Amino acid sequence: MTVTTDAPQEIVRSGIVPFYLTGTEASTIPIIRGRFARLFTPASDILNRHDYPDAVGELCAESMALAACLSATLKFDGVFTLQAKGDGAVRTLFSDVTSEGHVRCYAAFDEAALADVAPAEPSVLPRLMGGGYMAFTIDQSDTDQRYQGIVELDGPHLGDAAETWFRNSEQMATKLIAAAQKTDAGWVSSALFLQQIAVDGGNRNDDVDLEDAWHTALMLMSSVKRTEMLDPDLPDTDLLFRLFNAQALHIQESRPLTDSCRCSDDKVYSMLKSLSEEQLRDLVDETQNLSVECEFCKRKRIHSLGDILQA
Ligand SMILES: [Zn+2]
Repeated sequence: MTVTTDAPQEIVRSGIVPFYLTGTEASTIPIIRGRFARLFTPASDILNRHDYPDAVGELCAESMALAACLSATLKFDGVFTLQAKGDGAVRTLFSDVTSEGHVRCYAAFDEAALADVAPAEPSVLPRLMGGGYMAFTIDQSDTDQRYQGIVELDGPHLGDAAETWFRNSEQMATKLIAAAQKTDAGWVSSALFLQQIAVDGGNRNDDVDLEDAWHTALMLMSSVKRTEMLDPDLPDTDLLFRLFNAQALHIQESRPLTDSCRCSDDKVYSMLKSLSEEQLRDLVDETQNLSVECEFCKRKRIHSLGDILQA
């Protein structure tokens, strides 16, 4: 018997491509580092389960690509979280990426307020989220340590708030572009990150003017089209070469991104066991069952009240 599959094949693997620029072919010293993240099937699978209105889906898709890009700029073993809280129609935006590349996302929004939001204008973020803040959190799984950076939610796009964070935390000059779109084939999202690298006196190439090289890289980066960033038929390495080859591009090994949630039967069970009988009775449905839905992957777990009380 022959088994055939009609499952759509992913043309370009969803993932993060780390790269660096040395400015000239003669130099081996990285002066600018970059990350390029793209999500195709995982973005579609995650957002199809949520079935958010398109404007909310677009913010979610952008935030996943951005979180993936930023997570790949840090060395950690655990979870990187991007969380935005606003006072507009979209109140919460939450994306996290593990060091293994597992991505998930959810948003909380006011449906009535969202319906009142004016249709497409260039300033996506203030229009949908109003004022608020964005937080970046790293939870190290090996040491249980947590690092958090917080920045005001300003600028027209999510990437702008992230840039402000880098600026405020006195890191090197940083530029971020994120894009997302719902197409006939599903959701696609992408983010491109560039950052200057501090080069000390004993380890510099005097043939390269660092400021000049940075401004050239920014100019090349700004020439990228949304359609290119989101084109599943354009391999990520081809796009990076198209953009940065003149600045001696070095592409490193890419890391896959997958749709994967960290919720589990055990976690839900422990959570229910930690509640008082009164709290549990408040949560039961008409059949005396406790139904817990994961807000990230929408998976539903059902326990009977009797089982939880007796166990
Ligand atoms: Zn889940």
